[in-house]
Amino acid sequence: MIETLHRKIDDKFDIDDDLTGFCPSKYESINIHSQLPMRWHRAKDFHIFDEHGNKWIDLTSGIFAMNAGHSNSFVNDAIKKQLDSDLVFSFFYPTKIREDFAEKLLSISPDHFEKVALLNTGSEANDTAYKLIKYWAKANNKKYIVSFRGSYHGRVLSADLMSSGEDNSDWSGIKDENIIFLDFPYGKETKFDPSLLPPADQIAAFMLETYQGWSSQFYPDRYIEDLYSFAKQNGCLFCFDEVQAGFYRMGKIYGYLTYGEHIKPDIVCLGKALGAPLPISAVLSTKALIDDAKKMGGTHAGNPLCCAAAMANIEFLTNEKFQAQLKEKIKVFEARLKDLEKYGIIDYVNARGMVGAIIFNKKVDANAVVVNSVRNGVIPVNTFSTSIKIGPPLTISVDALHEAFDVIEGAIQGIKTTNE
Ligand code: PLP
Repeated sequence: MIETLHRKIDDKFDIDDDLTGFCPSKYESINIHSQLPMRWHRAKDFHIFDEHGNKWIDLTSGIFAMNAGHSNSFVNDAIKKQLDSDLVFSFFYPTKIREDFAEKLLSISPDHFEKVALLNTGSEANDTAYKLIKYWAKANNKKYIVSFRGSYHGRVLSADLMSSGEDNSDWSGIKDENIIFLDFPYGKETKFDPSLLPPADQIAAFMLETYQGWSSQFYPDRYIEDLYSFAKQNGCLFCFDEVQAGFYRMGKIYGYLTYGEHIKPDIVCLGKALGAPLPISAVLSTKALIDDAKKMGGTHAGNPLCCAAAMANIEFLTNEKFQAQLKEKIKVFEARLKDLEKYGIIDYVNARGMVGAIIFNKKVDANAVVVNSVRNGVIPVNTFSTSIKIGPPLTISVDALHEAFDVIEGAIQGIKTTNE
């Protein structure tokens, strides 16, 4: 039995060493539940509970959504208030909460964003970005979208077209020949090479996931700088998919700002932590781009309940006291994560703000550390690759952070000993 302030794991709890093939529901697709073999009963702040009372420290924020913590009472109260107001649906009809939220989101965002498109999911936000780019490209006689191999932009077809690489949409038989992929610039010294691009005057846009999700790969600062200058010099749109990186995950309101405060993207896609726990996403852009694109919106987009949740969520996250505490926690998070690089079984560690990844030399070691951590009351993101991703709710306490890192470090040490 493990019992501390932050963890409680009964002796009866166990999971298989092999984490693949977990399918808890006979009613849903076997391709849905590709996560850890545990059934959530309750989640509060940075703790997750199962129905037997086992309690874990959450290092996943769900999946980088619950930046304000699970079942945040400030957000929940706002949802309850909206629920009690008898306005829980309005289709495209304007509502005060929708207008207030759109205004609030723009007011906390960099000044050059003039308008916002409201949607439901991150995938839809990226689909809308694709649409904005295509309308603009047509009007400006340009065609190419440059994306990066290994990126992830969601589950809709346009996101599949822009994600991962050339063969990612093979399942559909549909290809967008005007989407060009560049290799992700792994390695701090990798330089931006314009000779790999199609003719500059035909490039409509660069589409970047602010960091690559599978192992928190950040772009080298210099690479972004050169890419951004190239885009600006050649009149190309510059777009960031901030669905995962947004809302202080990387320490600043939008992760792209950590590459340089002077960067002014034309399009930014938001989701996840924007309105967590309710589904709402958004695209920030200029008046010209947003107003020129047709076919926008949807039945539930800008739903009053979701707007109320998002409004409360951003009020909570932008609170000054919360921000001051976050800065201190980030110091602990980055230091503890980086410190793990000393272990021989680890290739390298990425960390920025409150997100990071441990990249192991061997997949089997990454898997073993995940299994061992879960058995000991800590949940990291299992990527089924050589990496383990970590991104706790930003509300996590410093002592819980230390406790979680102690568990992960213990798991790493255990493997080192076994291999010797
Ligand atoms: N873009 C990024 C960078 C993501 O991480 C995700 C989800 O993991 C998405 C888009 C898709 O968002 P959603 O699952 O809300 O459709």
